[in-house]
Amino acid sequence: MGKRYHCNYCDKTMVAAPAIVKTHNKGVVHQKLVQEHYQQFKDPETILAEEKTKKPCLRFTKGECKFGGICRYSHYTKEQIESLKEYVAAKQRNKTQIHQPSFEDLYQKLQDEKSNKPLSDEGNTILYDNNGVTHILPWTYNNDFDTYGDNLPPSLRRFKIEDFVNANVTEWG
Ligand SMILES: [Zn+2]
Ligand SMILES: [Zn+2]
Repeated sequence: MGKRYHCNYCDKTMVAAPAIVKTHNKGVVHQKLVQEHYQQFKDPETILAEEKTKKPCLRFTKGECKFGGICRYSHYTKEQIESLKEYVAAKQRNKTQIHQPSFEDLYQKLQDEKSNKPLSDEGNTILYDNNGVTHILPWTYNNDFDTYGDNLPPSLRRFKIEDFVNANVTEWG
């Protein structure tokens, strides 16, 4: 007795000759069983995408379709497709919820950003006047403008500490 080949999909044993196995693997019955075997491992997304491109199998609805898993028409009922769609949509919703940062994450991120901030007043211009008052101007000057001195328009001119001495601080109402 020669070597035997057993096809697990078909639960069939045959002579282990390459030609015979090859022919078997090309057979409709074998392919149908392989398809049906893998169908159960497919994600609903894959099944949905595949079935959407197919027309419903009229023979299958009458119980007459012999093609099973390799039928080029869909063997899924409208209701089954609908529940697949619902399942996929619910899965997508869950996914986006998981990817949304929690309050704790956001709070932690804020704390990290605060602690990473340099202690120096980068971006501010600091002036100390004679009265011991610190003026922090929330902007910086372009040092290149210094060469223009007082010829600059007032908006570009660098504040000097004298500007604050007799300043009339307007109360904003
Ligand atoms: Zn087989
Ligand atoms: Zn069919």
